[in-house]
Amino acid sequence: MEKYILAIDQGTTSTRALLYNHQGEATFKAMREVKCLFPKSGYVESNAIEIWISVVDVINEVLIKANIDFTQIDSIALTNQRETTVMWEKDSGKPVYNAIVWQSRQSADICARYEDKKEYIQAKTGLLINPYFSASKIIYIFENVPSVKERAKRGEILFGTIDSWILYRLSNGKVHNTDITNASRTLLYNIYEHRWDDDLLKLFDIPRAILPEVKPSSYDYGVASYFNDYTHIHALAGDQHAALFGQHCFNKGDFKNTYGTGCFMLLNTGKTPITSQNGLLTTIAWQIGDEITYALEGSVFVGGAAVQWLRDGLKIIRHAYESESLALEVNDSEGVVVVPSFVGLGTPYWDDDVKGAIFGLTRATKKAHIARATLEAIAFESKDVIEVMKKDAGIDIKELRVDGGATANDVLMQFQSDILGAKILKPTSLETTSLGASYLAGLSSHFYRDIKEIVSLNKIAKTYTPKMSKEEIKRRYDLWLLAIKATQTFK
Ligand code: ADP
Repeated sequence: MEKYILAIDQGTTSTRALLYNHQGEATFKAMREVKCLFPKSGYVESNAIEIWISVVDVINEVLIKANIDFTQIDSIALTNQRETTVMWEKDSGKPVYNAIVWQSRQSADICARYEDKKEYIQAKTGLLINPYFSASKIIYIFENVPSVKERAKRGEILFGTIDSWILYRLSNGKVHNTDITNASRTLLYNIYEHRWDDDLLKLFDIPRAILPEVKPSSYDYGVASYFNDYTHIHALAGDQHAALFGQHCFNKGDFKNTYGTGCFMLLNTGKTPITSQNGLLTTIAWQIGDEITYALEGSVFVGGAAVQWLRDGLKIIRHAYESESLALEVNDSEGVVVVPSFVGLGTPYWDDDVKGAIFGLTRATKKAHIARATLEAIAFESKDVIEVMKKDAGIDIKELRVDGGATANDVLMQFQSDILGAKILKPTSLETTSLGASYLAGLSSHFYRDIKEIVSLNKIAKTYTPKMSKEEIKRRYDLWLLAIKATQTFK
């Protein structure tokens, strides 16, 4: 009887279940959309009970589709949207407020109070003081939901990121744990000393009693007793961390970029946490046994979203994939540079007030040039982050592993390879997040013997090799930097 790992990927807008066989192939899938609520401008919340229902639904659906029952499930792997915050009653398991989603800005004012503690916080957590991370979301609930803080102090309330919330429910309220990758996104976990940080808990006035116990990413979290008394949960990991693992970035210097709405880049920095001088985040990549691996993380706000702008804003394409054929109508962007900084500039410029711009227009400029320059911009933005990563980590990045919707675009991928002077590897399975979680579970449950066995499962669908000369790279990148400078003066 063939066995599978049941991977749950709980994302911002959907929950998915995938059944992985021993070859690391997703054989069956189920998906439910999850609603985001926007109670006020800048607020993003989700109903935590709906999230839990979606998990139960996709598990049932995928088993029915595969026509199997839990006896063929080796173990459960859970990966999730990070930082999103849930608080619930210890006794009843009932949430006291909606899940506050990572993107939500509703705790921005709370973060502003700690602006002068920026370096102190970074030195413990590797993070910046920002509403993304869970701490200010917890404080928001304390300040906006009557009596929750008092009850939390009495030990009646629990906190968890989504992994912890689902684990609590799957275990029928028996296990209140989280994994170290999710803990490292709360702004409460000391990533250097590997413990909840008492000084930070004091600073934020958050009672320790609400916090889950922190465990490795690959670990036996116990039985999913909501379903039965024999199927164990063997992995928890934040989505980007699981994706890094799913991309086989097991060694120091291995790097992946996810080209979705935004771009998310993680560099495996091995056993050493590296502090960035340029606004990158230091984070825990994963923990297996006693061994902790660190990563540097950077992101680009507008990645594939720039292609959405071509489609919905400029209306020069009808579908995202048409950006490729349109760009191919010209051989070159011919001096046109698009800077899609629609929501300010992130790493390494950190300039909130910048607007987007198009430079280098002539009478000969066509839609195709703008499409091509927009795709190139995604690659330039990624290069900006990668250059900083290389500098901060003192590591050369020779190879890039990629995933996400926009990797379907060959023009973008080839230009990315060219402008970086680095090889790009695209795996056959772009579902790297759930795949990585399944690997982590399989290592703990002994579905896989060791990491060597997983390495042998590596399947690359396409490789892009750089073709641009050093001089040309410099010429093109200098032009991009000039355009960035110009946008910073136009305010
Ligand atoms: P997310 O997980 O952020 O929703 P996806 O990984 O699903 O993102 O990727 C969707 C993004 O990729 C969209 O922003 C879309 O514009 C872009 N995209 C999808 N297909 C292509 C394509 N062929 N060329 C360029 N961009 C694309």
